[in-house]
Amino acid sequence: MKASKRIALVAHDNRKKDLIEWVDWNYKILLNHQLICTGTTGMMVEQALQKKLQSHDNFRFPVKKLKSGPLGGDQQLGAMISEGEIDLMVFFWDPMYSQPHDVDVKALLRITVVYNVPTACNRSTADFLISSPLLTEEYHPRMNDYIDYRNREIT
Ligand code: PGA
Repeated sequence: MKASKRIALVAHDNRKKDLIEWVDWNYKILLNHQLICTGTTGMMVEQALQKKLQSHDNFRFPVKKLKSGPLGGDQQLGAMISEGEIDLMVFFWDPMYSQPHDVDVKALLRITVVYNVPTACNRSTADFLISSPLLTEEYHPRMNDYIDYRNREIT
């Protein structure tokens, strides 16, 4: 992991307001990193950042937007994690309502554990992550040794 991080941002509909408030609050820090989002979250994050940057005429901050979560965005994110393309994730999932793509949500959360990706699912954890000194340092996350599983693939 380099000093500038690839940060995934995702929020379910009932949690989008929370995430956007968090982005508003932390935008200066976020501008030093790359942002990767599921579709609708990405549009909202981009708009929020654009509003903050209105005074800087032509400055646009690019946010990579994947497909919307229910249309495969969570799976795209999971694939990026397995390829080592995401350094940390803020995923405000909805604890009160089940989603049409619950299986994708579960798979995404699982893969963050497999690849030891720091993941915040609520505001306090996101605050701790973004204020960590490790955010601006090189960091080498320890990987679990899944050698048995890799051997299983080969045979
Ligand atoms: P969305 O997807 O950003 O396209 O709303 C989020 C999700 O439901 O995983």
